[in-house]
Amino acid sequence: MIFFDPMYFVFIAPAMLLMLVAQGMVKSRYQRGMQVDARLTGAAAARHLLDRAGLQHVAIEEAHGFLSDHYDPSHRVLRLSHEVYHTRTATAVGIAAHEAGHAIQHAKGYIPLIVRNAAVPAATFGPTIFLIMMIAGALLNSPELVLIGLAAFGGVLLFQVINLPVEFDASNRAKALLTEYRIVDGEGAAAVRSVLNAAAWTYVAGVLQTLMQFLYYAWRLFGSGSDE
Ligand SMILES: [Zn+2]
Repeated sequence: MIFFDPMYFVFIAPAMLLMLVAQGMVKSRYQRGMQVDARLTGAAAARHLLDRAGLQHVAIEEAHGFLSDHYDPSHRVLRLSHEVYHTRTATAVGIAAHEAGHAIQHAKGYIPLIVRNAAVPAATFGPTIFLIMMIAGALLNSPELVLIGLAAFGGVLLFQVINLPVEFDASNRAKALLTEYRIVDGEGAAAVRSVLNAAAWTYVAGVLQTLMQFLYYAWRLFGSGSDE
């Protein structure tokens, strides 16, 4: 009974706890940074960063949903959530500048971003392939199929690991540029750092969750207890 094994929670619990803590940090620092003034709105700050990087052709649109901010590389559009788009706060310019950082990475051919984009199919289809292979492997009693499933899960892990330097770099660009162009003062810069660092921890927790799941399934396959 692979799905109700208490050992699964022994493997995964620390990572789940870290994720809950990181998500709580993002929420509280997001709100705190909303009380700290910036010189521009999130949209205006992103526009400034993009223009200074020679990216006048990258459009900025409003997106629906809380923390829905992202850069769309296929349409070369920056989409910012309502509060980030409209408010002149440290949180807004921090998140907007992070997304602008992704657009700048894209324009400059930043290698980790290219590798990450190439690995998107692994992240998209990996979990489905994993599930199908695990079920088929169990039904047909085929360790080979289970192994293929595990490899697909490893692809998801690989994507998340490659994604880390991409996210850290976008945040580092954001922090540096917001200070360089004086969009935030000292207090604002500190608030930007605290929001973006909390967001970085959610990516680290995500990697740890996937890693521990991967190790759990590998342990079930190759370690003790695979004959239950
Ligand atoms: Zn990002």
